[in-house]
Amino acid sequence: MGPEGFKPLCWAADPVRGGFDSHTFPPQSLVVPESLTEMKALSLMSGGLDSMLAAKLIMEQGIEVVGVSFTSPFFDAEGARRGADELGINLTVIDLSDDLLEVIRSPKHGYGKHMNPCIDCHALMFRIAGQRMEGLGASFAVTGEVVGQRPKSQMRFGLGAVERESGIEGYLLRPLSAKLLAATVPETEGWVDREKLLGIHGRSRKPQMELAEKYGIRNYATPAGGCLLADENFSRGLRDLKKHGRLTNPEIRILSFGRQFRLSDTAKLVVGRNHAENERLFEFRPEDSMLVKVTGHKGPVGVFSGDATDENLELAGRIVARYSDSEGSEPVTVRIWSSEDDSKDINVVPFASKEVKDLAI
Ligand code: SF4
Repeated sequence: MGPEGFKPLCWAADPVRGGFDSHTFPPQSLVVPESLTEMKALSLMSGGLDSMLAAKLIMEQGIEVVGVSFTSPFFDAEGARRGADELGINLTVIDLSDDLLEVIRSPKHGYGKHMNPCIDCHALMFRIAGQRMEGLGASFAVTGEVVGQRPKSQMRFGLGAVERESGIEGYLLRPLSAKLLAATVPETEGWVDREKLLGIHGRSRKPQMELAEKYGIRNYATPAGGCLLADENFSRGLRDLKKHGRLTNPEIRILSFGRQFRLSDTAKLVVGRNHAENERLFEFRPEDSMLVKVTGHKGPVGVFSGDATDENLELAGRIVARYSDSEGSEPVTVRIWSSEDDSKDINVVPFASKEVKDLAI
């Protein structure tokens, strides 16, 4: 679900505002207070040290900072909540699930090492944050990006692409690297003192650690920590869903736990590895999926998605039986529920380990 009242609106494509054009900036709705003491900035918070330091550098200039962070099936906002608490700023959390899914299906700037479309993801976050600026009374946005710190998305090209596509070009300030970048409107207008901003570059964390020490910041999340899109195993499963036309949020939600199997081009099975995973699979199973479980023996829950042909269901039954307490190659009965009141039993011979491995994603 997208955030309430959300429209995937970019100032660049908004027919009401007539489209973005750098000559018509700032947009009419941008908040520019009469007095600098009322100036407010919106900070994109990841909960990592850099985003906290960026916010802190702006707060040090007497500017009020409000935070924005995002959730999706790939990451949560817990780190940002802790970071905002530590800095004493209010945080707005926005659900990015549906919009990020569109980006993952076809990222304009491609993927990183795995299925992480970082440039497009950043641009999406900034665009949505930009749409919230007016409502939150902010005049510009702040991020913790550092030039040259990460491949692609934080090289100068990546930063430029993100900014151009964010809809808030000129109003996006990166305090940690500001002196290496063209001056933004908040700097040229004198809202912030550029001299007090920094020129950090590259992957060394030393300058940030020294600043953290200076500001007494101790609790922060690891850089890019927790984004499943940058995880190799998760990305393999995501690629499989994309290839088979099942890239939907319900399918993605059961991708991060259980054993994943591709049964055919039209069917997939996820099998719980322990009691906790069985419970989560049961809770988060897609609406149109089926549950598969051995009867008469202890065994895991399987969630079957796709085309319920006899062949696909037999494969699913044989895999689930393989992880049950049944005896080796003896046939067992597997029950398949398509709903609470509708089930059928099939008899199958459990697969051997090697056969199961061949179907694993
Ligand atoms: S690491 Fe994940 S959350 Fe961060 S920009 Fe890349 S895709 Fe987006």
